[in-house]
Amino acid sequence: MDLPLKLFINNEASQRSANPNPISSSINSVQYIESKNGERISLRNPTNDDFITNDVRVAGEEDIDTAVTAAKIAFTQGPWSKFSGIQRAACLHKVAAIIEQNAERLAQLESLPTGRPISGIVHFDLKHMVEVFRYYAGWADKIEGRSYVEDNGYYKIVRYEPIGVCAGISSWNATFMYVGWKVAPALAAGNAFIFKASEKSPLGALALGPLFAEAGFPPGVVQFITGGKETGSLIASHKLILKVSFTGSAFVGKKIQEAAARSNLKKVTLELGGKSPALVFADAPMEVAIGGVGGGFLANSGQICVAASRVLVEEKIAKQFCDAIVQIFEAASKGMGADTMDPKTQHGPVVDKEQFEKIMTYIEQGKKSATLLTGGGRIGTKGSFIQPTLFLQPTSDSPIWKEEIFGPVLTVRTFKTEEEAINLANETEYGLASCIYTSDITRALRVSSQIEAGGVAINSPFLPELNTPFGGIKQSGYGHELGKDSLLSYMNAKSIHINMAIPKL
Ligand code: NAD
Repeated sequence: MDLPLKLFINNEASQRSANPNPISSSINSVQYIESKNGERISLRNPTNDDFITNDVRVAGEEDIDTAVTAAKIAFTQGPWSKFSGIQRAACLHKVAAIIEQNAERLAQLESLPTGRPISGIVHFDLKHMVEVFRYYAGWADKIEGRSYVEDNGYYKIVRYEPIGVCAGISSWNATFMYVGWKVAPALAAGNAFIFKASEKSPLGALALGPLFAEAGFPPGVVQFITGGKETGSLIASHKLILKVSFTGSAFVGKKIQEAAARSNLKKVTLELGGKSPALVFADAPMEVAIGGVGGGFLANSGQICVAASRVLVEEKIAKQFCDAIVQIFEAASKGMGADTMDPKTQHGPVVDKEQFEKIMTYIEQGKKSATLLTGGGRIGTKGSFIQPTLFLQPTSDSPIWKEEIFGPVLTVRTFKTEEEAINLANETEYGLASCIYTSDITRALRVSSQIEAGGVAINSPFLPELNTPFGGIKQSGYGHELGKDSLLSYMNAKSIHINMAIPKL
């Protein structure tokens, strides 16, 4: 497979700013460039440990400066600065269609270093990403302001304006979704964007660059760079980047916030980790609860930020419920090891050896602080496959109950009363998502108002929706992706006050 390994930085914006036909000019300026930095990223396939490449470029300081300069020129002087909302919408619609046409190749490039089955990437991530681009295309020509009648001698106007050069830094577990969440609203609002994918999943993002150019986004408007911690840190500290949207761990989120504060007080959105609860009451629609808790959790082998990894089950149904989850886990375990490039394969390995070792350490700790109901071991001798693992009644202070594992390890505790369930649900420093399974809608709404989380799903796993804000509270971060909330987070409000008491000339 032809791998995109170089940086998608387009520094031709200045030369093209005078071109009278912005849409056609961009197609010829597709550009992968060599990095000035000599460092390289190596990748292996976590399904079989095979070597993929050791040649993915790493963006260093000079490369990032080049990308930022191109973005700034595109934003302030290039054709993009004059695009109407309708033109921006047209480009967003077009890139959505082009991504759909290229879905198979994109999915393969994303799957190769992450081990995610292509079925999930095509039918969930890419489908969702395309919908996100179409959703924000709808907003691009509907950005409104406000005005207030003169009641104190001033007529007042509130205008929403794009911020300028924005950037995104993301984790590896669903790169395409994060491109959609960050890039689409930023472009709908009229900004220029630089996206850094994780060093564990750089290929799919790099392959997107030319598709944006083909869709008519002028040079410098959308750029894709790769690199790890240092590259991310350079972005977070850059003085000319005015907003960064970050998806990743709380540990790194704090570093991003510090770097933003130290450099230029850039705006920051933090989409961080979680240890989300699922509350299962005895009156729950049982098939739905079992499927949502067991099957939902195993999507992407538990490597999902909103995965409900702490299950709270009413004591009187706990045995029956856990038996059903064990069955789901053991069936999934049998399918593991199959070719993840086969569209029928549902479950894959965890992303790499580092993540594998981290999860296995949690499992060993769990064996000492909880009852192991199923799993707890490796599958096969090649790759990073881990058996879906279920622990019952971990102690409140055990790492498997308190810390985000980000792998196929589910913990269950039982409760007797609603109050106890709520207390257990809130017994975490995170607050991303939560699920409530019950047939009593009054209880569902009552409990949802007491759960400390940015999102609550009733009788379903929590999944992002295009039009509702997605984001966490507590140490799951702040700010939102999706919905109008995200669009506004890529804009500055400007208040204009007009003195109406000027004497007539
Ligand atoms: P991570 O925090 O280690 O890395 C995320 C990104 O930050 C990567 O691109 C990495 O290169 C970069 N980075 C690392 N150190 C940096 C630094 N000092 N400065 C700037 N950038 C730096 O996270 P990960 O292992 O890639 O992803 C797993 C984590 O992400 C989990 O905690 C998971 O819950 C979280 N996550 C959150 C969401 C959400 O929407 N809330 C979604 C997916 C994943």
